[in-house]
Amino acid sequence: MNENVKKVVTTGPPVSGMFPPDQENLVDPDSHAELDYERCVQCGYCRLVCRVYNTTYAERDYAGGRNRILKSLAHKEIDFDKEKIIDAIYQCMLCGACRTVCPNGIDTLEVFQTYRHTAVKKGVMPEKLAVLRNSIVTNKNPFLESGTDRFNWCDTQSCNEGHMAYERAMEHKRKIESGELKAEDVQEHLVGYFVGCTSAYRNNELTTATSVILDKLGVKFIVFPDEECCGSVLFRTGLDDDAMALVEKNIKMIRSLGVKEVVFSCSGCYSTMNIEYNKFTDNNLGFELTHMVQFVPKYAKEHGIKIRYTKRTKEDPLIVTYHDPCHLGRYSEIYDEPRELIEMIEGVKLVEMKHNREMSWCCGAGGGVRALYGNISSDIASNRLDETTACWENINEDRLKEALETKAEALVSACVFCKNNLALAAKDTNSSLPVIDLAQILEDCEFYK
Ligand code: SF4
Ligand code: SF4
Repeated sequence: MNENVKKVVTTGPPVSGMFPPDQENLVDPDSHAELDYERCVQCGYCRLVCRVYNTTYAERDYAGGRNRILKSLAHKEIDFDKEKIIDAIYQCMLCGACRTVCPNGIDTLEVFQTYRHTAVKKGVMPEKLAVLRNSIVTNKNPFLESGTDRFNWCDTQSCNEGHMAYERAMEHKRKIESGELKAEDVQEHLVGYFVGCTSAYRNNELTTATSVILDKLGVKFIVFPDEECCGSVLFRTGLDDDAMALVEKNIKMIRSLGVKEVVFSCSGCYSTMNIEYNKFTDNNLGFELTHMVQFVPKYAKEHGIKIRYTKRTKEDPLIVTYHDPCHLGRYSEIYDEPRELIEMIEGVKLVEMKHNREMSWCCGAGGGVRALYGNISSDIASNRLDETTACWENINEDRLKEALETKAEALVSACVFCKNNLALAAKDTNSSLPVIDLAQILEDCEFYK
């Protein structure tokens, strides 16, 4: 084994030749994250909860091992090869389980995202990420789709509620742009639905469900005709500099309309605005951020609205288990509201999986990994990609098995990425367990007083 590898790798394959000698140092000496990885004592608590490590058994794939590599790079005990280091940087879902259990309080996510950002600045980036970045910068979405097609989902035929929201938005925008109405003079509590790229281009069942729910609740919401990608994937993959342009544009766009509350069906968009956008504005965004799992119970309680699932009854409820998305759970500490919402629905009953709330298992799609390694058709496939794809497949199948153990009739989540990745696991394992978003249950509910 390479001498450099011996210094940082203590157990588990595959490691051979991972760090052949090179000259460059990945660690940015000005990074404050450096202090965090320096504090790591390699206790290994995080290894027990890391779904990637539990699949690959490679020391580089859990937080302590990665911190050890960073320390060694910082102290020039090892050098690195630009090609070989890519997996060590990107084969992490940024699920946050390690941060939750770390007895030393190390902000592992901050460390790893800084690590990725520094790597990108030094020219270390998977080829596929360059494709993704170009699409977001050019088309304002990661799917190589035309930016002008973002609202194709809300025509009169496919989603009339969305179409009405779009029409209201265009009229509102016209008034603002003509000077007939000033943003600061908007008196009503105007609600805007931030759709997000994946729902807009790939999962129209969620845009429709969300529009239908808001309409049924009686909320006169608008969508954002000038919405652009929130930048989540860019932040997660180290492309912060590109993401900042989107942050500025989206904030300016939302503020210009005088919107008071932005609602989300996508957990990734929600947490990106909640964390990165808030950081950028020093917690002074000027509008409230609410995920649908928060908005619906809050609105229903304020207006004395009850919710009934029309496909089942109180006596014969639909048994569901809830998968906490990392971006809602560990990132945003939203654990109670989705459960409270499910409990509010007559005709639906919740059972918990073994790993839930703070200790929930990741679905395997986080950290930009699915987008990077799985979703975009490309001929850039490599052995590295194959290995990584296999890794994620194992992870999401394990999570699905937990759901099956609960004997639930449906696995529900509140994140489009979780839904897609867990549905893929269901398909690959020939499971008949439906994987759906909570919004799809609410779409089939009656809201009454
Ligand atoms: S739990 Fe914290 S201190 Fe322990 S190995 Fe992991 S990152 Fe390091
Ligand atoms: S963020 Fe999740 S996948 Fe990444 S090292 Fe921590 S536990 Fe493992």
